[in-house]
Amino acid sequence: MKKINMTTPLVEMDGDEMTRILWKMIKKELLLPFINLKTEYYDLGLEHRNETNDKVTVDSANATKKYGVAVKCATITPNAARMKEYTLKEMWKSPNGTIRAILDGTVFRTPIIVKGIEPCVKNWVSPITIARHAYGDVYKNTEMKIEKAGNAYLLYEAEDGTCEKQLIHTFRGAGVLQGMHNLETSIESFARSCFKYALDVKQDLWFATKDTISKKYDHTFKDIFQDIYEKEYEKLFQEAGITYFYTLIDDAVARIMKSGGGIIWACKNYDGDVMSDMISSAFGSLAMMTSVLVSPEGNYEYEAAHGTVQRHYYKHIKGEETSTNSVATIFAWSGALRKRGELDGNRELIRFADKLEESCLATIESGKMTKDLALITSMENPAVLNSGDFIKAVRSKLEVMLGE
Ligand code: NAP
Ligand code: MG
Repeated sequence: MKKINMTTPLVEMDGDEMTRILWKMIKKELLLPFINLKTEYYDLGLEHRNETNDKVTVDSANATKKYGVAVKCATITPNAARMKEYTLKEMWKSPNGTIRAILDGTVFRTPIIVKGIEPCVKNWVSPITIARHAYGDVYKNTEMKIEKAGNAYLLYEAEDGTCEKQLIHTFRGAGVLQGMHNLETSIESFARSCFKYALDVKQDLWFATKDTISKKYDHTFKDIFQDIYEKEYEKLFQEAGITYFYTLIDDAVARIMKSGGGIIWACKNYDGDVMSDMISSAFGSLAMMTSVLVSPEGNYEYEAAHGTVQRHYYKHIKGEETSTNSVATIFAWSGALRKRGELDGNRELIRFADKLEESCLATIESGKMTKDLALITSMENPAVLNSGDFIKAVRSKLEVMLGE
């Protein structure tokens, strides 16, 4: 078989622990035999981040801006325990946070649907993608505990010296207080990322807030979406045969339960945090969830939604067998390769990405799967494969599919 050539490199961000082990296996078994793989490699493993004072993370994000498409392995976000484990110079920030701050944009999370792993909600026959706004609201709040009676105000001092002051509440006794904000620019880029992504995957877009109660804060989100939609995307949506639909968050929750899926649901930061866990667990497993960061300029960074699977890694380094699911990491590669193929007009690469995904699904549907899926499948007597054997089983299917 002739290997597929690439014209533009993918930005490859390597990571940590068990997913770093899977990363190597995926490249060796599923990519390098079939593609003259062109990547610009950045080692985001914690040791190398520490050696470079985290410069490598910044460099990898800038490379994504240059080339447009990146694929990322899961990485450790250091905490006190990791400081000791890796003798870190500093408690480096979350790489995903750093990358997001540079690229800006929205994270889209989509479950991978396969026969034999049925969603808890029977009518969800197609995946539901959550688009979560990743800036502000309660995640950048200021809080106060009130101990005694008094007045709480919302006060804004403009740079020009003018002031606006509103009474929040007259406390008769103890209570709590919270202040939060968002930015028009951030909401605008959230909206554009959602509209672009919906056009990209040709699916309807829903957006929901609580604008009936929050007449200025949430209403601003609603207005910005509507305004950008009408000015920039309405015509494109009509041409693509998809719709944009705004409703109240409670109505959206009620409707989503009755829907057949196949939609993108844009959520404010907190709603997205909560709803994405609800959606992923209802569809089966975090190990079957893909994640892509789309910047307002149209840069893409693909990854798995799960972490570095630390517990499995410690078994692996003790020489014990692991059965870690590599599907979401494989789909991060196929997503990035397909996007690269689309941008470069490389049809062979797009076909390869499709076949790679089909081979994963066909492997599972033939009853061969990792332990996490074997525990939840509706199939009888599934064959539980170890981490390496699952990837090899996918390779056998892929060879057949590519040969057809
Ligand atoms: P995790 O790596 O997602 O794993 C949590 C548990 O979920 C695992 O112990 C395992 O359960 C199950 N699991 C997750 N992915 C799986 C897979 N592919 N195959 C089979 N089972 C899977 O989360 P964590 O243990 O909380 O975090 C570990 C490290 O990952 C942390 O250092 C964290 O900072 C990092 N993290 C990185 C990212 C990212 O880079 N995007 C995201 C989240 C977390 P069992 O042990 O029961 O088998
Ligand atoms: Mg959460």
